Amino acid sequence: MKAVVWVGLVGLVACVPPQSYLGSETPAACTNSDPERCASALAERDLIDGDLDAYDDAGLRAYVQGIADRLALHAHLPHSPRVVISNHDGTYAPYANAIVVGRITIQKLGSEAELAAVVAHEMAHIEGHHATVSLFGPAADQAWLAGRRDAEGIADERAIALLEHAGYSPSAMRRALRAELEGDDDEHPPRVDRIARVSALASDRVAFEGREELLSHLDHMVVGRDTRQGIAIGSAWVVASLGLALDLGADDIARSDGDGLELRHGRSTLDAYTIGGPWARELASRLDRKETSTTSLGKLTLGMVRERKRPNDALDRLEDAVRSTLQQPLPGTWVVIVERCLAKAPCGALVLELEAHGERAHERWLGSLRTATVAELRAAQPARIVIATAARGDELHALVQKCPNPVLATTLDDPHRVVPSGESFKCTDR
Ligand SMILES: [Zn+2]
Repeated sequence: MKAVVWVGLVGLVACVPPQSYLGSETPAACTNSDPERCASALAERDLIDGDLDAYDDAGLRAYVQGIADRLALHAHLPHSPRVVISNHDGTYAPYANAIVVGRITIQKLGSEAELAAVVAHEMAHIEGHHATVSLFGPAADQAWLAGRRDAEGIADERAIALLEHAGYSPSAMRRALRAELEGDDDEHPPRVDRIARVSALASDRVAFEGREELLSHLDHMVVGRDTRQGIAIGSAWVVASLGLALDLGADDIARSDGDGLELRHGRSTLDAYTIGGPWARELASRLDRKETSTTSLGKLTLGMVRERKRPNDALDRLEDAVRSTLQQPLPGTWVVIVERCLAKAPCGALVLELEAHGERAHERWLGSLRTATVAELRAAQPARIVIATAARGDELHALVQKCPNPVLATTLDDPHRVVPSGESFKCTDR
């Protein structure tokens, strides 16, 4: 979780002149002694401009913001937190002003009340200053972990009260936990305990559920990993978000790790991944022995990553900590940054980290980089949710058999949920 990395920095921001963060002026909160909102604002810019991690759907964002606003009316907060939809899994609250909800978290939920339960849990962490409290607690030892588990239990309990005040079914908390929790870790109480506890607290009290409301907002949402960030198609690695393809040689060993690609050819290795335009320009400014050229692929910058300068004031330290959560090469690494701006999309960049032998070894890799074909761009499109209507009442696993991908559709809901005739359920388009 990104939020964890910022531990130790809140409380350090004092009055300092405006600076810039990822190419835009540092938010006012960073200069008016509101460190929680400052960190939140930096985190949001980091998500949106730093590494292409925000999910670009204004309608969905406005919908989830509306749910947060409804819950916040009864929370002990001076204002409703800002909601950002990220393009990955997981949900967290980076300080006092933001709730980041992962798109992959949303796709597994079955009603607006369940989504409200996820948002309410994070809102309870903000109310309780849990991110801040952990800053001044002990280091990550057993006592710290016990504190984390307590905070999670408190957030579950408080979320039920927030749901109830806002008119949502409190029993949605149990279903949201069931849908989202896969295994156990040291920072949360065991899954079975959390579900049992919220079940006892909420019993079966029912209020607004909003199944159709949620589903109508999920129509055409990307499902699973966003393959536009990189996918193998034929003998090429295609990054549709940038319109680029990297041809893989017959004797190249390729391994994909999340959205990134690791390639090995003889004694040369390459790591490739995408980042946002503002972050790419900052990384490029930190290169030694730099060579820049403009090509048909975009602006190419080659150089070696310089040691980061030590932050010298409080704001520097906060920014440095937020920046350290962005994907980036280690000092001393040779990189090529290919910055590219497609029509109707924010500029982004492909970073190639090189561990190459020979003076001009990067040229071999660059020689296999080209623009993607129309067919490759089409094949790289991710699967999306399509809302279907049940022709008969049945359990979900039976209804999704008519979807193009029944296995994928089954992962999007409780397979044993009974969908009445005429009601909606989630299929996919491929
Ligand atoms: Zn939590």
